[in-house]
Amino acid sequence: MAHQLPELPYPKNALEPHISAETMEYHHDKHHKKYVDTVNQLIEGTDLKNASLEEIIKNTDNEKLFNNASQAWNHNMFWQWMSPDGGGQPQGSLAKAIEKDFGSFEGFKKQFKTTATDLFGAGWTWLVRDKNGKLAVRDYKHAARNPLIQGETALLGLDMWEHAYYIDYRNVKADYVDHFWNVVNWDFVAKKLGA
Ligand code: MN
Repeated sequence: MAHQLPELPYPKNALEPHISAETMEYHHDKHHKKYVDTVNQLIEGTDLKNASLEEIIKNTDNEKLFNNASQAWNHNMFWQWMSPDGGGQPQGSLAKAIEKDFGSFEGFKKQFKTTATDLFGAGWTWLVRDKNGKLAVRDYKHAARNPLIQGETALLGLDMWEHAYYIDYRNVKADYVDHFWNVVNWDFVAKKLGA
């Protein structure tokens, strides 16, 4: 069973003015599709041909397959981490966990933004739950690496590859991160925490 490119959960222009329809068109229809297509090509005729993305990420020693499976997995969730009804503040036990481990929601946002804008080269910025149950911000210093391979739970991921922001924000990563907060789907983040 080949891996599928998931449909976007909202129209391409739904995240405007924060993320443009043009960015969504290139990012989902071309970049994400390429990762999925490449995974399908690389698993053909191998013992991973029926494996889930999670199983491929954890088990392959083929670097190209790892990179593409990891990117396919990251993007499957990235679209769900944003919503036209997003933004605002996390609620309930997610809000409490953020306050406990970062001092405040503002403190978390500051650390996440600094990590995202300081990232050198392509990659992702993550809010994770670590092995001890504590929330932390990560970048893993690798273009495709993700919390799954680190044994951590991905609560929120922000794509910091240039293809994610260059059409809308050119070189100004900080503006991209500032606008991202307006579309974050905190309900989906809370679901990942099990909150
Ligand atoms: Mn991307």
